[in-house]
Amino acid sequence: MAAGQWELRISEVLVKFGVTKERLQENAAEELESTLQDYHDLAEQYSDMMTTFCYEDRPVRRNNVWLCPKCGKRVQYNHTHCHWCGKKMGWDGNQRKGGKGRCRR
Ligand SMILES: [Zn+2]
Repeated sequence: MAAGQWELRISEVLVKFGVTKERLQENAAEELESTLQDYHDLAEQYSDMMTTFCYEDRPVRRNNVWLCPKCGKRVQYNHTHCHWCGKKMGWDGNQRKGGKGRCRR
């Protein structure tokens, strides 16, 4: 069974944006679904990673020590990331969570 018209259209788009390397064949709908599921999973993982490593959160100050806003363990003042969980620290408060800050390396 050959791919239908709509499948050919989608196939073109997917190839164009590099989602798939090859044009879709007979089982196009199935392939597409699993590809999209992969992307969905990837996007979720990526979003978690961005939240942890790229977006800053202000450390919590308690009893004269600084605590990681994510895992609650102690962090040293002015460390860029939590020693325990890798959460990015926002000491100056210039860049807030969810702001336009990009990951700087
Ligand atoms: Zn932490």
